[in-house]
Amino acid sequence: MTSDVPLAAVSASLPCQGWETQAAWCLLHTGFDGGAHFLRTWAAWRADPQRPSMLHYVALATQARDWSGLQFEFANDPALQVLAQALYTQCIGLTAGQHRLCFEGGHVLLTLCIGPRLSVLRQQQFEADRLVIAPVTVADELWEEWSVKALVRCCRRGTRLAVRCGQPDVPQWLRQCGFELADHAAPTAPRHGVFNPRWELKTSREPWRHTRVAPQTCAVIGAGIAGASVAASLARRGWQVQVFDQAGDPAAGASALPVGLAAPHVSVDDCVLSRLSRTGVRLSLQQAEMLLKVGQDWAPSGVCEHCFDDSTAQPTPALWHNRAGWIKPAALACAWLNDPNIRFQGDVTVHGLRHEEGGWTLLDPAGHEIATFARVVLANATGALPLLQQAQASQPTLAWGLHQLPAVYGVRGQVSWAVHDAPELRPFPAGPVNGSGSLIPFVPFEGEQRWFVGASYQPMGKPEWPDDKNHGANVLRLDKLLPELSAALAPVFEAGVLQAWKGVRCVTADRLPMVGSVLQGDPSLWICAGMGSRGLSFAPLCAELLAAQWAGEPLPIEVALAQSLNARRQRVDASN
Ligand SMILES: Cc1cc2nc3c(=O)[nH]c(=O)nc-3n(C[C@H](O)[C@H](O)[C@H](O)COP(=O)(O)OP(=O)(O)OC[C@H]3O[C@@H](n4cnc5c(N)ncnc54)[C@H](O)[C@@H]3O)c2cc1C
Repeated sequence: MTSDVPLAAVSASLPCQGWETQAAWCLLHTGFDGGAHFLRTWAAWRADPQRPSMLHYVALATQARDWSGLQFEFANDPALQVLAQALYTQCIGLTAGQHRLCFEGGHVLLTLCIGPRLSVLRQQQFEADRLVIAPVTVADELWEEWSVKALVRCCRRGTRLAVRCGQPDVPQWLRQCGFELADHAAPTAPRHGVFNPRWELKTSREPWRHTRVAPQTCAVIGAGIAGASVAASLARRGWQVQVFDQAGDPAAGASALPVGLAAPHVSVDDCVLSRLSRTGVRLSLQQAEMLLKVGQDWAPSGVCEHCFDDSTAQPTPALWHNRAGWIKPAALACAWLNDPNIRFQGDVTVHGLRHEEGGWTLLDPAGHEIATFARVVLANATGALPLLQQAQASQPTLAWGLHQLPAVYGVRGQVSWAVHDAPELRPFPAGPVNGSGSLIPFVPFEGEQRWFVGASYQPMGKPEWPDDKNHGANVLRLDKLLPELSAALAPVFEAGVLQAWKGVRCVTADRLPMVGSVLQGDPSLWICAGMGSRGLSFAPLCAELLAAQWAGEPLPIEVALAQSLNARRQRVDASN
């Protein structure tokens, strides 16, 4: 097999040459170093009418730094300065790990991988169209043969290369790994090359290289924030998406929650949930900023978290989450669905799924066919498992992996809320507080300011609590969280003016959402559900993860973290 790119042509290639023929284009750069190369690539993408719809830029950085001061370096170039400002606004608070920064409505995605080169490269699962090996700075480790091999694992036959690094061993290792390198055009010029090994590439242990699929039509069942965000992520990549919901309007289930918090989970050992929630909140706030009206539908208010030490019953010092805020889920769901590639169809209950040659036929409760789609995503929360179990019972010969899904529960909850009567008389904090339940103190609705306290937690399967009992549980939470405010609100509680909003969360046994295909070896049926009490933190992350896997793009999170969200994550004993 040979590359279709002659080496002579490669040596003169431009940084973005070849992208005009592709719907998505991916560049891997080994030295972020403030992002100047990213900004130039982004500017070139903006200026090119033949640009690909999606630009992926994956950059490695050994350490997180405060890059914000660098925006002044672009003061002489107004076009770059605007982009630099957008970049550095998002660069705040980056720690070791993988971060997804989103620009141009989600069409330009920067995946910033911070940490030792070899370990971050081993967490990647994509094929770059272009690879740039940057000069090694004093902060970087020198290249080793293993890290060059890990870099080459992110290439496909035909990946173009520019080597700007002067380390003498690197060209030799690149050649050994299958790169053809042109001679230096000038001593200081980068060295160009193309990945064209003389051997057959063995990829049988990396099935993700073969499962990517070109955009076509698909169905999403459920128009809550999970389904709507999946639809938006796929639509952005060119899919024609039909979203079905049994209700007449979007966001009729748990996503009808009037307002909720997007705030990171914190743990002493920075557990998987904490790391995922941090990335998830960053993505959610980016989406809210792009799509919603600040102060009306969301606010990047920050959240104050009170931590309680149960052994002393005394609050420990509060944590301040700067990148956190409140969001109205229904507004976000509707904004996501407002895309020319998405069609929402309400009042359609999907009652059955029939596997066909070309995909899946959706059936209504009378057994009539609704439509057939090459791919289907179940984003209908607690409705997903019964639908899958029924489909399994009617088509038992398919390779179902339902036994590998985590256990799923419905958990009822109620938020208590009221209109502010005399806020000046009560010690309301300026912004949201969480820790023992949560308080969102000022949210505009229908021309008035409301406050919200929540949320009670009652597993299904037991008789449903009356509203008053739920209110009582929420008042107890507020007593613990903000005792002074709770005491000052006593007259309001006694006056019986508290209002209730109730819903059911879809919670998995390990409290992590599930995203993935439900059949073994057949990627046509997917699930994206189990958002639990954190849909506002997880929905966009899960949607981007699903879309990235369908397209074979860089993942928004490390592979190991993505595996913890995989729907079929339960190990199954060989004896089972
Ligand atoms: C009291 C309470 C407080 C909460 N507070 C917060 C918070 O502060 N922050 C936060 O992040 N999260 C919070 N949550 C959780 C959040 O609301 C959920 O995680 C999120 O809304 C789940 O979204 P979803 O799209 O997965 O599910 P849903 O919004 O429930 O959407 C599922 C959709 O599927 C549809 N459907 C079901 N079956 C079918 C079928 N067979 N055919 C067609 N359509 C079907 C339903 O009509 C529904 O619209 C709270 C939840 C509750 C109950």
